[in-house]
Amino acid sequence: MHVAVIGTGYVGLVAGACLAETGNDVICADILEEKIARLNAGEIPIYEPGLEPLVARNLRSGRLTFTTDIPAAVKASDIIFIAVGTPRDEDGSADLQHVLEAARTIGQSMNTEKIVIAKSTVPVGTAAKVREAVEAETDHKVHVCSNPEFLKEGAAVDDFMKPDRVIIGVDSDYAAEVMRDLYSPFVRTGNAVLIMDIASAEITKYAANAMLATRISFMNAVAGLCERTGADVNMVRQGIGSDQRIGSQFLFPGVGYGGSCFPKDVKALIRTMAELGADPSILQAVDDLNDHQKGLLLGLVVDRLGEDLTGLTIAVWGLAFKANTDDMREAPSLVTIEGLLERGARVVAHDPEAMTEAARRFGDRIELLDDAYAVLEGATALVIHTEWNPYRRPGFDRMKAALAEPRIFDGRNLYDPAGMARMGFEYYSVGRAVTGVAEG
Ligand code: NAD
Repeated sequence: MHVAVIGTGYVGLVAGACLAETGNDVICADILEEKIARLNAGEIPIYEPGLEPLVARNLRSGRLTFTTDIPAAVKASDIIFIAVGTPRDEDGSADLQHVLEAARTIGQSMNTEKIVIAKSTVPVGTAAKVREAVEAETDHKVHVCSNPEFLKEGAAVDDFMKPDRVIIGVDSDYAAEVMRDLYSPFVRTGNAVLIMDIASAEITKYAANAMLATRISFMNAVAGLCERTGADVNMVRQGIGSDQRIGSQFLFPGVGYGGSCFPKDVKALIRTMAELGADPSILQAVDDLNDHQKGLLLGLVVDRLGEDLTGLTIAVWGLAFKANTDDMREAPSLVTIEGLLERGARVVAHDPEAMTEAARRFGDRIELLDDAYAVLEGATALVIHTEWNPYRRPGFDRMKAALAEPRIFDGRNLYDPAGMARMGFEYYSVGRAVTGVAEG
């Protein structure tokens, strides 16, 4: 099939590469000339495991091409995905300007009957607006679908190639048939392709993200109770997660959710529900709790070391909003680091993949070092934001020797509190006892 993907970010690039891998001719289009030039040179602008060889292979075979000529991409394709960003608007709602701009361009470039697919995360009712925008520009027949994406950054290629399910919202049998066919290579092991009405598909995406965000905020609230009672949230987590009705995934307390999806999608769903007279109070609580949780590590540091951190060096491990990505959008590390800098601290940080992004955001306001142990030299404390594998089993002797004081604020519960106390660390984590603090 001839496929165009408009918007070549995390979702568009991964979708385009995977659709090319299964034999389609795919044109990925974006307005950013520099991005397209890099992609045409085989350079991948984001860190995503497995993506680089996939793109290189399909570029070589000629099945995958990149362009800034969006009208040409539309004309050459029967199926057009809109995968542009839908950032948060000032009032919390999803900003649809890029989606509707893409829809207008599609309309202006229609030369045959085509299927247009809203892959971006968009509020219920958006597919109808896309149809309107396309139809305002053309007399050619258009089929509009909603096909929200569920991939996770850090595992995006795997998620796209082997999805738990594919959600397709349609209003024509023709579109349903073509979409089922397009996705058939990805569901050979029997995972579901769920064909439904468009509104249900649009809501499914937000409901899924809001449910996951709710689990995180719920566990963070439980962690707060554990801290006040001497209970261990890790035991509580295992205790509830072994109930099959609850399940063990997404029950880890921490420093709050970040990234480009959960924060904006929860806010957008609150906004949509409020506008339509549905009760968003549960999600408002989820959102409020998360804002509070993002300040957790800064609060612990200030409680222990005081409001004035002038003259102190604080080491930071982990800048990305989660492991296996270089994405720092809405990352909890941003809240901690800004707070540390405001209070006069010197911040020295490490992340396996997000250093370029951190340098772009902070410039010379923080120091970034390639060696995770070097950032500890002379630091009064280490603050951990991200659960990268290399941080899970570090050389504790080396850490202790490098730190000016053996003190760790761990926002991901990577270590065993009792073990840390035995090794002589003062250790703070989430929803578990503080250990190793000298009495008196
Ligand atoms: P992104 O910011 O990484 O990429 C968006 C791309 O769209 C950019 O390259 C931008 O230049 C391009 N663009 C903007 N306007 C354009 C236009 N008019 N024509 C052509 N290109 C245009 O965004 P993303 O993370 O890939 O997310 C895209 C959508 O998918 C969002 O709605 C997001 O909520 C959703 N989503 C994201 C993820 C994720 O993990 N990142 C997962 C599922 C769904």
